[in-house]
Amino acid sequence: MIYMRKAALPIFFIREAAVPMIFIREVALPMSIRGFIMPDVDGNYNIYINDKLSEERRQITIEHELQHLKNRDCYCDLPVKVIESNIMNG
Ligand SMILES: [Zn+2]
Repeated sequence: MIYMRKAALPIFFIREAAVPMIFIREVALPMSIRGFIMPDVDGNYNIYINDKLSEERRQITIEHELQHLKNRDCYCDLPVKVIESNIMNG
């Protein structure tokens, strides 16, 4: 976005494309759910991780959820099964 303020001399503000922040939050979830990712209203992302996972499984789950972010799956209307199999198949 380029914004010009009216002043004696024009002043230009050039805002870089916003880089989203990613918050990783450990929460109590049923063991059937390892984690999930959700965008928030500010354009940032929250990765919720089951707080009962082992350290290794936690890392794998974070990488899995980041793959959803990379694939823009949060904005995809495909069935969850299809989205998940797309990640499994690279
Ligand atoms: Zn997934």
